[in-house]
Amino acid sequence: MISKPATGKYPFVKCVPAEGFRGQQVFDIGLCVSCGLCSRDCPAKAIEMVEVNGKKRPLFYLDRCIFCYQCAESCPRNAIKATDIFELATTDKSSLVVKPTTTQKNSGA
Ligand code: SF4
Ligand code: SF4
Repeated sequence: MISKPATGKYPFVKCVPAEGFRGQQVFDIGLCVSCGLCSRDCPAKAIEMVEVNGKKRPLFYLDRCIFCYQCAESCPRNAIKATDIFELATTDKSSLVVKPTTTQKNSGA
């Protein structure tokens, strides 16, 4: 008679992404060797190498990213890691530009 609701009460109730969900990648500048392979291999051209303290580091344009994780696959130092961060909706596109600073979540905001 009364079945369980098909939808959850997000955002009032935290949503847990399914196993294997591909969320925002995070970058660890301490592991990066500035090789540029992540940028070279990104199929969406979502990574630009920018200079930080004299070294080239990846800057991510999340509005272009298709969350394929090729960048993480290509990185020889495991400096780019998968997460299940999915709350990226915004009215401010600049918040989707993630600059290479420190180990980060969505630091563009
Ligand atoms: S996840 Fe894919 S599309 Fe997004 S930055 Fe990495 S390689 Fe590019
Ligand atoms: S592939 Fe890895 S080590 Fe090379 S520039 Fe990208 S994040 Fe840095």
